Amino acid sequence: MSRARALLSTWYLGIGAALAAAGAAAAEPASRSAVALAAAVLIVPAALVAGRPGGVRRSILAALTVAALTGVAGRLALDGRSVDNAPLPVALGVVGLALTAVVAAGAAADRQRWKALLGDAGIVALGSWVTAWVLISQPLADRVGERSLGVIVHSLQQPAASVALYLAAIAVLARPHRSPAVWMLGSGITAIASGALMATLADVGHVGDWASRWTLTLTSLGLFAIGAAVVHPTSAAAFRHGDEPRSPTARLVLTTSFLIAPTVSLAATGPDDTTDRVVRAVAALVLAGVVIGRVAAAVRANSRHRAELIHDAQTDPLTGLANRTVLIQRTNDLLRTSWNQDLHPTMFFIDVDRFKNINDSLGHAAGDEVLMAVARRLRDALPDDATVARMSGDEYAVLHPSLDSHAASMAQAEQLLALFREPLTLSSGDVFITVSVGAAAINLTTTTSPDDLVRHAHTAMYRAKDSGRNCVAVYDESMHERVAHRLAVETALYRALDRRELRLYHQPILDLRTGDVVGFEALMRWQKADGGMVSPAEFIPIAEETGTIVPIGAWALLEALTTLQQWIAEGVCSPEATMSVNVSPRQLSDASFPSVVSEALTRSGASPHSLWLEVTESVMISEPEVALATLRKLRGLGVRVAMDDFGTGYSSLSLLQKFPLQRLKIDRAFVQGLADNPNDRSLVRTIVAMGSSLGLDMVAEGVESVHQLQVLSDLGCHKAQGYLISHPVPPEAMRSTVSALERLGRFPGLRVDAALG
Ligand code: C2E
Ligand code: MG
Ligand code: MG
Repeated sequence: MSRARALLSTWYLGIGAALAAAGAAAAEPASRSAVALAAAVLIVPAALVAGRPGGVRRSILAALTVAALTGVAGRLALDGRSVDNAPLPVALGVVGLALTAVVAAGAAADRQRWKALLGDAGIVALGSWVTAWVLISQPLADRVGERSLGVIVHSLQQPAASVALYLAAIAVLARPHRSPAVWMLGSGITAIASGALMATLADVGHVGDWASRWTLTLTSLGLFAIGAAVVHPTSAAAFRHGDEPRSPTARLVLTTSFLIAPTVSLAATGPDDTTDRVVRAVAALVLAGVVIGRVAAAVRANSRHRAELIHDAQTDPLTGLANRTVLIQRTNDLLRTSWNQDLHPTMFFIDVDRFKNINDSLGHAAGDEVLMAVARRLRDALPDDATVARMSGDEYAVLHPSLDSHAASMAQAEQLLALFREPLTLSSGDVFITVSVGAAAINLTTTTSPDDLVRHAHTAMYRAKDSGRNCVAVYDESMHERVAHRLAVETALYRALDRRELRLYHQPILDLRTGDVVGFEALMRWQKADGGMVSPAEFIPIAEETGTIVPIGAWALLEALTTLQQWIAEGVCSPEATMSVNVSPRQLSDASFPSVVSEALTRSGASPHSLWLEVTESVMISEPEVALATLRKLRGLGVRVAMDDFGTGYSSLSLLQKFPLQRLKIDRAFVQGLADNPNDRSLVRTIVAMGSSLGLDMVAEGVESVHQLQVLSDLGCHKAQGYLISHPVPPEAMRSTVSALERLGRFPGLRVDAALG
């Protein structure tokens, strides 16, 4: 289809050019008129081809058709007559040119930019009208002896042609990639405008009669080119207006060049009579006024643009709050002035609690709505002199410069928490959120830069999160030390694995009925280069937060299984003994975890049945779906899963049933109180009864006394680990540990405590 139209367009232009050339060569003026008439009439079928759905806009095609027919009709009707006698044909010519300008405008700009272009087009029209008045209308009026209506209408021809030409030039310049239709349209309008200029000059007698031959030929050529342009398959895009011209200079040069001609012509000629003098004076004034107006508009637009740029650079696009840059700047200003004031300027760092859950469960659009609603609530609640900024994601900061005491800061912080007692209204309904607030006041000895203050408030906010969220924490120096310590641990931990500073200790698990060591739990130890030992309770949470737990955990799995295989091979323990390895939530949410486990099994040669993975209840609570999927995959490998520290978390019975578990480890907190706390005893009894009815294996942790062991045995829990049996020991000490335990003999129940005691 588009190939057919491209071909048609080529033929249209080719035949048209041939006809125009034949007309120009013919001796008879009538043949030129016939060609021009044909060119105008042929626009009608061309417009019909282009006006199909999805093609060129109908209004433009209508303007084009009327422009062609009236323009040519006017020119032909004027043929041989003097313009002062024929105001109507001249007017038709003017209408034709004006509509040609409309067609060019359709390709030059869309509705919005059209306003700016209109101002420039006005300058072009006025400039060329003044030129036409001085160089064409005045000599014409002199020749015919009066300023008749025909002469006055005639003076409008040049401005109309100039505007068409100007807009055609903009349309061509506005496009980085010019299609054939754009080129043909631009050259067609240029040919028509040049034809019009030549005709006007001939009308006045500035050029000889030969010009009339070229006038009609140029008009015909122009019409054929425009016809070919609208037939071409690229025409629809050509009339879908272009961008702003690449270089604004092009537009400036084009516009100002239309000011040079009138200025020169006014300066180079003198007025003929009073009317001429008045017209010239008014024209010069208006021209100057228009130019001033245009310059003023440009300056205004420029400063508006600058203001927008500055606003954008300082504003968070989602919430419209100030951004980090502004906050830092205001803090800086405040730091410079606050030393002499009796005030207590405070920064509050605010973080939405569990925002990730909102995003995950309600979707990102709702998440954005929450962020906007929080911003609005903060802004509405705080005085104008406070800076409310969005720092990133769900983090906001408030700089309150006019608080006057610690008490006032605290009251303000509490008020920030209270702001969210009422639900936020989203398009999908109401949601309740809570926030954690960190507060840090400017302290002239410790706050040396704006970044310090932000960091302090941020640290305090983390403290509020650690204390259970939905609360306020105030910064103090000890927090800084804790953070510094944490950072030091984090950095050292990164290198610990490479430097072989990590080791596994093992704690045996005893079967109370047989007295056999049935398994071991691997517990990580970090032996630093300086000899210091870091407890897993300290470094595991940091490793988890930073993600280092993933490689460390993979190492522990392989190491533990390899050790077990070695012990079995050396006869340290029975071939049925198992190894328990602790797994943190972060590892479990890592998609590659099941393959890490299966690789460790393969590389160590251990059977899947010899591995217990110990997970905590938090795994089931934070991301139950992900955890469930991973646990099922692990189950598929034949690996068994134990619930560690059971009873300390918040897991519900339904979750217990849903998760593929095979063992419960009773937390040592309950074991500790067994001997003398009846509550703990009945709790453990319940746990054992429930676990047994679910078919779960039961292990008690942290057994430290014979009495505890006895009660556990009575309650039906037959596996235990704890300092009473053995502390965690390094692998090389396991042989002696196990044989010491076995030397105690195979003792059911009470014989165990007799032996151990
Ligand atoms: P957990 O898995 O509950 O390990 C039991 C903890 O109780 C161990 O502390 C162990 O030394 C201690 N313990 C054993 N028997 C007794 C006792 O009779 N009395 C007392 N008071 N404590 C006893 P540890 O080795 O400091 O480990 C602490 C926690 O660190 C572990 O708790 C576990 O959650 C985590 N952890 C240790 N190693 C790893 C590891 O390789 N990976 C992961 N993800 N976590 C680990
Ligand atoms: Mg454990
Ligand atoms: Mg435990």
